[in-house]
Amino acid sequence: MTAAIIDGRAVAERVREQVAGEVAQLVERTGRPPGLATILVGDDPASVVYVAMKRKACAEAGIADHHQHLPTDVSQADVAALIERRNADPEVSGILLQLPVPAGLNGQDLTGLIAPGKDVDGLTPISVGRLVRGTPGLRPCTPVGVIALLDAYDVPLEGAETVVVGRSDLVGKPVSLLLLARHATVTICHSRTRDLSAVCSRADVLVAAAGIPRLLGAEHVKPGAVVIDVGVNRAEQGLVGDVDFATVAERARLITPVPGGVGPMTIAMLLRNTLLAAGLQESAGAQSAA
Ligand code: NAP
Repeated sequence: MTAAIIDGRAVAERVREQVAGEVAQLVERTGRPPGLATILVGDDPASVVYVAMKRKACAEAGIADHHQHLPTDVSQADVAALIERRNADPEVSGILLQLPVPAGLNGQDLTGLIAPGKDVDGLTPISVGRLVRGTPGLRPCTPVGVIALLDAYDVPLEGAETVVVGRSDLVGKPVSLLLLARHATVTICHSRTRDLSAVCSRADVLVAAAGIPRLLGAEHVKPGAVVIDVGVNRAEQGLVGDVDFATVAERARLITPVPGGVGPMTIAMLLRNTLLAAGLQESAGAQSAA
């Protein structure tokens, strides 16, 4: 079997077009575009690139840009004060503190200050609690992007054996909870898992999020499985995933490439979350005015 490729760029483009259309409708209705406040602290090269990509995508979707770049030596109190100002600003629908923040700042504490209704990264304790409970809330971008890709290719999740490799707060845990919410049977693997290939090869849907180049090969994959590779690793030949694409593609039914798979979905979902947050604030405003 040779797997069909899941085209993340195409799916992400469709999401972005849909968001842009809904943003235009919101502007017509309210006279105000959704706004995203990105906060970048310091000059970490990867973070600088990620934030620039997010701001560009926002502008293309008609979302207003409220960016703030702070110096590396800014104090925890000053970043906290900025977040509080953004929380109170009606022009700002969503707030994104780019992680990691420089040493000396506590990124988790700062993220926790973001108002849950503006938490477009879905990483505050309240958003995490809502995800665990299965109540409405903003979900983390990359994990929700994984589910959107599976849906775009009509991959059945109810009752499916799914295995997630990785248990981080950013990817592994939330993607596992989202799969569980879709009634999949979920197994989570990590660095202490015994016999990774035996566990992974049970999966109808295998999600790799370990951050180890080509950790998973053909021996980890059941013939006909769907393989989603979240990993982005820099190797000599450029970006590679956590999956050995060439051998796994011979065994799987569907597979995401790296790049061009999950990556583009993360930004598309950020735009969608910003629109969702603006919608929530619009309905909250309408309720308080009633
Ligand atoms: P992370 O915080 O480093 O977590 C990695 C997880 O993988 C940990 O839970 C770790 O287990 C597990 N792991 C490590 N070695 C393993 C092994 N040999 N066998 C099984 N599990 C193992 O990484 P992350 O933030 O979740 O990111 C994971 C990957 O996704 C990275 O390559 C990252 O660049 C990529 N990523 C991509 C996007 C995107 O937009 N495409 C977004 C976010 C992240 P322990 O918990 O036991 O240490």
